[in-house]
Amino acid sequence: MKSAIEIDAGALKHLQDARHLVVFTGSGVSQESGIPTFRDAQVGLWAKYDPNELATPEAFAKQRDVVWGWYEFRRSQILRCQPNPGHQAIEALARHLPKLTLITQNVDDLHERAGSHGVIHLHGSIFQPRCRACGRPHTLTPGIPDLPSEVQQIMPPKCNHCGGWIRPGVVWFGEELPRNAWSDAKQAVRECDVLLCVGTSAVVYPAAALPFEAAEQGVCVIQVNPDPTSLDSVARFNLRGRAGEVLPALVEAAWGS
Ligand code: NAD
Ligand code: ZN
Repeated sequence: MKSAIEIDAGALKHLQDARHLVVFTGSGVSQESGIPTFRDAQVGLWAKYDPNELATPEAFAKQRDVVWGWYEFRRSQILRCQPNPGHQAIEALARHLPKLTLITQNVDDLHERAGSHGVIHLHGSIFQPRCRACGRPHTLTPGIPDLPSEVQQIMPPKCNHCGGWIRPGVVWFGEELPRNAWSDAKQAVRECDVLLCVGTSAVVYPAAALPFEAAEQGVCVIQVNPDPTSLDSVARFNLRGRAGEVLPALVEAAWGS
């Protein structure tokens, strides 16, 4: 069956001819899997806590049980979710093109679970906590934490090596991005000829600078998002719609599957 979504012919041609495609994703790509976007997380359940205030080293120092409980709840949510057709279409793009670099701002593992390899996680991973003091990785108890859907205060575990507090493996506001991830991402953006930006409002810096830098270099930026964003003016093509619908339609229109 042919997809009902019409894809701009110009965008399609750029994608088909790409020699090195960078795909840059934000929380919108996981929205159809049931994971709230950053913006969604500021209403409803988490309206009680401002994520901007929870996602800082200072918040962890002050109320580590609230912060750890918040991340444990989010981790349990992610573990119950599955990759959606948007994640799967990105994996398919990697099979059709000579080179693809996938850069994500997401801390979930849905790209990996959809089969993508070598994903650059600019903001770390919720599945890789580490010791705040000595930096050693911490192994989480296997399985899905059994948390009711309400705010929980949970004390984080202590490090087996030095007794320091274990902290979530995500990048908080005010922290530097993981050095290797950031330099790999910058290099890929310098080398690519097309950048596909999916489901990000592009307001969290420095990650958000990548598509703007690409556009400045003359790279063709294609954006997939149902809503207007700060990237609208620099994207050569704005494909309005949900990632789980637009991306499979793109792949189908370009390669048939
Ligand atoms: P954001 O909430 O600022 O923006 C989300 C964007 O996704 C919006 O522009 C929205 O219009 C768009 N969107 C919503 N549904 C979509 C869909 N179905 N398909 C395509 N686009 C859709 O989030 P952001 O730009 O990712 O940046 C905020 C930060 O929040 C990031 O640093 C990220 O690490 C973090 N975060 C990650 C996760 C996750 O790992 N899944 C979830 C929430 C927040
Ligand atoms: Zn330690």
